[in-house]
Amino acid sequence: MFELIKKDKKTKRRVGILEIRNGDINTPVFMPIATKGAVKSLAPEELKSLGADLVLGNTYHLWLRPGTEIIKKAGDLHGFMNWPGPILTDSGGYQVFSLGAKTGAGLVKISDKGVEFRDPIDGKKYFLTPEKSIEIQLALGSDIIMVLDECPPYPASREQVEKAVARTTAWAKGCKKYFEKKVGPNPPTPLLKGGEGGLKKNSVKINRPLLFGIVQGGIYKDLRERSARELLAIGFDGYAIGGVAVGEPRKYLKTVLDAVLPLLPQDKPRYLMGLGRPEEIVAAVNAGIDMFDCVIPTREARHGKLYCVKSRQLSAKNSFYETLQITNAKFAKDFLPIDKNCACYTCQNYSRAYLHHLFKVGEPLSLRLATIHNLRFYLGLMEELRK
Ligand SMILES: [Zn+2]
Repeated sequence: MFELIKKDKKTKRRVGILEIRNGDINTPVFMPIATKGAVKSLAPEELKSLGADLVLGNTYHLWLRPGTEIIKKAGDLHGFMNWPGPILTDSGGYQVFSLGAKTGAGLVKISDKGVEFRDPIDGKKYFLTPEKSIEIQLALGSDIIMVLDECPPYPASREQVEKAVARTTAWAKGCKKYFEKKVGPNPPTPLLKGGEGGLKKNSVKINRPLLFGIVQGGIYKDLRERSARELLAIGFDGYAIGGVAVGEPRKYLKTVLDAVLPLLPQDKPRYLMGLGRPEEIVAAVNAGIDMFDCVIPTREARHGKLYCVKSRQLSAKNSFYETLQITNAKFAKDFLPIDKNCACYTCQNYSRAYLHHLFKVGEPLSLRLATIHNLRFYLGLMEELRK
């Protein structure tokens, strides 16, 4: 399931292989986000050629539109979007809670049973429960399924966060129970033999999706620890850290990682949800995180903000890269590629001046070329971190 290949001597960085039924994934890994069944502006073949192994689909969006009945007619999400590789799906909870934060309490009601909400587009009522979330993710054919959790906003009172931790644990139990009823119990956990320096493969062939728990607890060290311990007692194939990058000052990332990571087992993958900037990814990998997803490379590409390597000395400071705002006038007559050392399709074939022009006149090709380059930057960063 998760084979740890190498640990860095100076940091807590881990290089491993995550065995998923649709293919093995080298970790640390970055997942491009295919929110509604596509990474915006890219075809799956392009994603593959950029070096993406695993993509993230959003349960909330796919459940509302087009709905699982239509996706099931193509087999599952793999068939529907023509992506044969592994897919991780979130639980849908994060989008529902964000909807509540954006629209006020009117559209979203949370109870111990689940979350009731109205589709902001057509007003239709939905009820997302732990069981429903698993049912949808199974119908989507997800290879890594996330439990439903309650992600409190930032800032939130200690009392609010404490309640969210208790509910997250209760929902995690509900998710696991339903998951096991549908797909059978966990296979025996592959244990790593030999200890440090002599790790040997001893894993079981995976033919079912994996189920990950999500640690909550906000910025409170003891609540993070409590959440992690309660999830460990339930037992999952991997552990995610949620409730980060929700608007809290970035200094709290260290507090959260320091509280949670020492409690997590070495032989299970660790996923930091929704993060982050390149230097944050380097810092989190050095702390022992294996998996990431983030909208930054794709969203910023669509706004003309392009990432370039400045130095191969990766660090937890942002000195190893720079960003170009390609819409700036200074690029109008710049016929260099975005990054002369980048091997991506965009940098091999197009100039900054051409990209600048495409953005200025609103050509859709600008989105595709910029997304290709930024994803290549992020995926290249992960390749460097795996070395
Ligand atoms: Zn490039």
